[in-house]
Amino acid sequence: MKHNFGAGPCILPQEVFQEASQAVLDFNGTGLSILEISHRSKEFDAVIVETEQLIRELLSVPQGHAILFLQGGASTQFAMVPMNLLPEGGKAAYLDTGTWASKAIKEAKKIGEVAVVASSSDANYNYIPKAYSVPSDAAYFHYTSNNTIYGTEIFETPKTGVPIVADMSSDILSRNINVADFGLIYAGAQKNMGPAGVTLAIVKEELLGKTGRTLPTIFDYQPHIAAKSLYNTPPVYSIYVSMLNLRWLKKKGGLDVIEQENIIKARTLYDEIERNPLFKGTAVAEDRSRMNVTFVTEDKAHEAAFLELANARGLIGLKGHRSVGGFRASIYNALSITGVNALVDAMQEFEEQHK
Ligand SMILES: *Cc1c(COP(=O)(O)O)cnc(C)c1O
Repeated sequence: MKHNFGAGPCILPQEVFQEASQAVLDFNGTGLSILEISHRSKEFDAVIVETEQLIRELLSVPQGHAILFLQGGASTQFAMVPMNLLPEGGKAAYLDTGTWASKAIKEAKKIGEVAVVASSSDANYNYIPKAYSVPSDAAYFHYTSNNTIYGTEIFETPKTGVPIVADMSSDILSRNINVADFGLIYAGAQKNMGPAGVTLAIVKEELLGKTGRTLPTIFDYQPHIAAKSLYNTPPVYSIYVSMLNLRWLKKKGGLDVIEQENIIKARTLYDEIERNPLFKGTAVAEDRSRMNVTFVTEDKAHEAAFLELANARGLIGLKGHRSVGGFRASIYNALSITGVNALVDAMQEFEEQHK
C-alpha cells in the first residue's frame, strides 16, 4: 500500500477515485461518460449546483458571498484579485510569507501600487511575521493562509480594518474559518479540494465593480457570477470529482471532524520530529502548518538514505521543495492517520539503523 505525501496534486480518498473512474465509463446510468456530457446539460447542472451547495454548507458561506469555479489555477487569481479589487490610483497591502505570496505581490504590482507590510524572507520564510500594520487606505489586505513550500500557517485571520483576501489553496476545507471575515478567498483545488483544473473563489459581491477599470470579460468576476460559473466551458470533470470529495467530507462529519483529525495527525508527526534525534523541523513551532510538515535530517548525509527507506515502505512524495530541502510531508484531509503512523514508524526504524 502506498501513502502519498505529495504536495499537490495530491491524495484524494480512495472511494472518490473509484466513483470518479466509474463515471468516466457511465455517468449516473446515463450511458454517457462524464467526459462527454454537455456543460449545459441538466445532468451537469445538478453537479455544479450540488458542488456549490456543499461548499456553502461545509464552509458556512454567507449570503452575499458568491462561489465561483474558475480555471487558470491560483496563479491566475494572483492577477485577477488586483484587477478586480485594486482601484485605479489606489493601493493594496500584502504580507510576504513565501514563494506564493511573493508571486501574488509581483502580479499585483503590475496592476497598481502595493505595500508589502512585512516579510519573513530574512529567515527563508520559516516564520509568520506578526508585528505589522496595514495602511487604512489599502483597498484590501492579501495573505497566504498556508505556505505550502515552507510549512507555515496562519490560523487566526488578521484584523486589519480593510477587506481581507486570502490564498487558501493548501488549507481550504482543512479547518473551520469564518468566511464572513473575508472579502475574497481563492484556492486551486488540487491541494485539498479535488483534482487540478478548477479553482475555487468565494467573493463578497459588494466589493466588486469599484475599480474604474475595464477588464477582459474572462478576468472579471462579475460575469462569472452572473453566469453561475458557466460563462464559458467550466472544467466539468474537475468539478465533478471535487463534488465527490466534498460529499466524502460531509459524510465524515464536515470541518469540525476533519479539523480534529488534522490536529492529531500534525501533532503525531511533529512530536516524532522533536523526539527523534536524527530529524529536525524547519518552521518555528508556533507557526507550523497542519497541512505541510517540513523537516530535515540533522546530518545532511542521511537525507538520501531516509528517502530511500521511505520509498521502500511505500511512502511517496516526501522530498522537500528545492527552496527548503529535506522533506515535506503533506498531510491533507485524505491522508489518514495510518499514513502518518507509517511515516513515524519509518523514522523510528531509521533511528534504529543509525544508532
Ligand atoms: C499550489 C499553490 C499555488 C499555485 O497554484 P496553481 O493552481 O498551480 O496556480 C498558489 N498558492 C498556494 C498557497 C499554493 O499552495
